[in-house]
Amino acid sequence: MTELIAAAASTPALEQARTFADLHLAPEILAAIEAMGYSTPTPIQSQAIPLVLAGRDLLAQAQTGTGKTAAFALPLLHRLRGFANTSTSPARHPVRALVLAPTRELAIQVHESVVDYGQRMPLRSTVVYGGAGMKEQTDALRGGVEILVATPGRLLDHAGSKVVNLAQVQFLVLDEADRMLDMGFLPDLKRILELLPKARQTLLFSATFSDDILRLSGQFLHEPQKVEVARRNTAAETVEQVGYRVPEADKLDALLRLVKARGLTQAIVFTRTKLTADKLGRQLQKRGVAAAIIHGDKAQVERLTALDGFKKGEIQLLVATDIAARGLDIAELPAVFNYELPYHAEDYVHRIGRTGRAGASGLAVSLIGKEEEKLLAGVERFIQRSLRIDSLPEPARSIGHEPRSEPQSEPQSEAGRAASSSRPAADALPAPEQPDALPNPDYKRGQKAAVCALFMPFPRSAS
Ligand code: AMP
Repeated sequence: MTELIAAAASTPALEQARTFADLHLAPEILAAIEAMGYSTPTPIQSQAIPLVLAGRDLLAQAQTGTGKTAAFALPLLHRLRGFANTSTSPARHPVRALVLAPTRELAIQVHESVVDYGQRMPLRSTVVYGGAGMKEQTDALRGGVEILVATPGRLLDHAGSKVVNLAQVQFLVLDEADRMLDMGFLPDLKRILELLPKARQTLLFSATFSDDILRLSGQFLHEPQKVEVARRNTAAETVEQVGYRVPEADKLDALLRLVKARGLTQAIVFTRTKLTADKLGRQLQKRGVAAAIIHGDKAQVERLTALDGFKKGEIQLLVATDIAARGLDIAELPAVFNYELPYHAEDYVHRIGRTGRAGASGLAVSLIGKEEEKLLAGVERFIQRSLRIDSLPEPARSIGHEPRSEPQSEPQSEAGRAASSSRPAADALPAPEQPDALPNPDYKRGQKAAVCALFMPFPRSAS
């Protein structure tokens, strides 16, 4: 049986965790937290950290952006500190903590956090994921690491070739477990679990507690403590959510107008399909906007370059599909746009979770086409409130160089064609990007990644 710990629960240790020092973490970890500039623990951190330190299994509901990575990474580092050593012998560095993540981007981000938080401790870590060469990963694993962050498919590749031994794993973290299930990783998870010792501490993080997640928890967790930081299916309270009803053919202009009117320096723009992402990215670049595209057909190096450019501020608008954007952690992102509403209402919550992170305020704008009313209704049902609908601001000067009116020769968007077709709305919509259509070798091996990420220099002038 699980035990519910509501926000501001009655457990005294949880109530008192107002500062990181209250959490009794090791001094070298507190120093790393200070260097990161964190002053107070987030709710998931103050609830989860004492439980992890006490050795409990955890079933935690927390979205990306709540500080969930530190909620497991900090206490794990604390518990592993007794194993820290500077020996050069790989035998002295067996894998003791395994963190599984659904996507390579999330795996890389989690590993970066582990490195940041553990910088003052001689613990070794590495990250392995599909879509990248085996050699470097193999060398790192052979050298020995205490903390391994991995996507499931690639971990099984390494385990299958006996490059990594998981028999001494004491801590297992399943990060974004709902995503792992969505992406069909359950068989891989089961195979990995068979390679781990039965006596271990398991921490499961998921944005939602679906029945599948509860079943998974029943199978793999031992008397877990249940921690929830937000109401089920609610979006971050700090995010301003607003919708505009815009015909498909006018969405590009509406996007640019809103970016200008809100004075947005950066935003992620979500599309449902790779096709729309490519088309929109190109249209933005033609207008002189520094836009980059990430989706499942982009090679790993292109996705990372796009992300890096965005993080450095060189890219103003990052056009992304849901799967490619999963788990992205971009500090202080002011806004996300739903250029197209997602098919799955829960993706709306994931999308807007990219902004308003860790207490910062954010803006989530939805451009709702005529044939997207059903999707809007689905989103509203899911977030249990209706979306505020505004009218568009007056046309302003374009943020790019193009003439202000849409050129007649511009090919009409897929969605635009769909909107003007007489077919039923649902049929007319392009198919969403499916997990199994991805080239991620973790679950669809051998498919070739293609298409270059397109970049434009940051526009010199807005006029
Ligand atoms: P996560 O939910 O783990 O993806 O974290 C979201 C963002 O919040 C990351 O950029 C973290 O660096 C940041 N963060 C995590 N914990 C804190 C904290 N206690 N105070 C401020 N920022 C934090």
